[in-house]
Amino acid sequence: MKRMLAAAFAMALLPFAAEAQSYPDHTITVVVPFAAGGPTDTVARLVAESMSRELGQQVIVENVGGAGGTLGAGRVAKAEPDGYTLLLHHIGQATSATLYRSLPYNPREDFAPIGLITDVPMTVIARADLEPADGKALVEYIKANGDKISYGNAGIGSASHLCGMLLMDALKVQMTTIPYKGTGPAMTDLLGGQIDLLCDQTTNTTSHIKAGKVKAYAVTTPARVASLPDIPTTAEAGMAGVEVAVWHALYGPKGTPQEAIDKLSAALKVALKDPKVIERFAELGTEPVAEDRATPEALAAYLPAEIDRWKPIIDAAGIYAD
Ligand code: ASP
Repeated sequence: MKRMLAAAFAMALLPFAAEAQSYPDHTITVVVPFAAGGPTDTVARLVAESMSRELGQQVIVENVGGAGGTLGAGRVAKAEPDGYTLLLHHIGQATSATLYRSLPYNPREDFAPIGLITDVPMTVIARADLEPADGKALVEYIKANGDKISYGNAGIGSASHLCGMLLMDALKVQMTTIPYKGTGPAMTDLLGGQIDLLCDQTTNTTSHIKAGKVKAYAVTTPARVASLPDIPTTAEAGMAGVEVAVWHALYGPKGTPQEAIDKLSAALKVALKDPKVIERFAELGTEPVAEDRATPEALAAYLPAEIDRWKPIIDAAGIYAD
């Protein structure tokens, strides 16, 4: 009798035991497809820290830079879909679908959307001693010097590439492009005066602009950015058409279990309401997306819409990689 009672007791406990071991029961890795110290990395580390607390497991960031974000994205597309390997990528997830003639993965098909995170304005910046005093003078300078100007980016498919492509297309000028594994290292070279120009997100440029270590000519949004009120918009600065806000989102590989997607999406929503995240985002010129965009459904609709929106713009610029 005693034994039967003990067995019944153990059976009654089973659901709790199963629950205690359910997802997540070990460290989650978020792949950032750019170098450490850059803007995507900054967003990922802030959000990962907050999600860790909510999920009760460590969420660590792994930087897999190279090929404009497509190496890291490809890694996650082929990862075990168990909820423990995720991708935090930006607008490049959409633009690379057109920019690359062939990719070893399909951005539309190979990922399980978790949610959108933030839309980050970009800034057109230069080494501190570049001559032009303002945006209009910069436009003249670029037209006069063309490929003598070195322009850093994070490779074809990165946001910095997209912004440079829009700028060169608007001015009908080719500059010399210097690709990096992320704009973290590109910024180091800009600060050191090894390259002339960069277009990068406020999450990477704000502190250097405020410290006067780089020259800022414009923000790439229709309205000025609250944390950089003195920097004109590209339209005001004579660079009409150079408009882009860099949306970021979180994905698992296709086939990630629904339980994991639900828990990750819930944790993402909590992270985007975390006062520490909101405050740091604001200092860096951005804010979390509205709650209804931090969902798998919103991202599942947004990614294909963005692929379609950028395709004709990229096709018109005629820039592709193999
Ligand atoms: N997101 C940046 C870009 O696309 C690269 C980076 O995060 O380092 O330029």
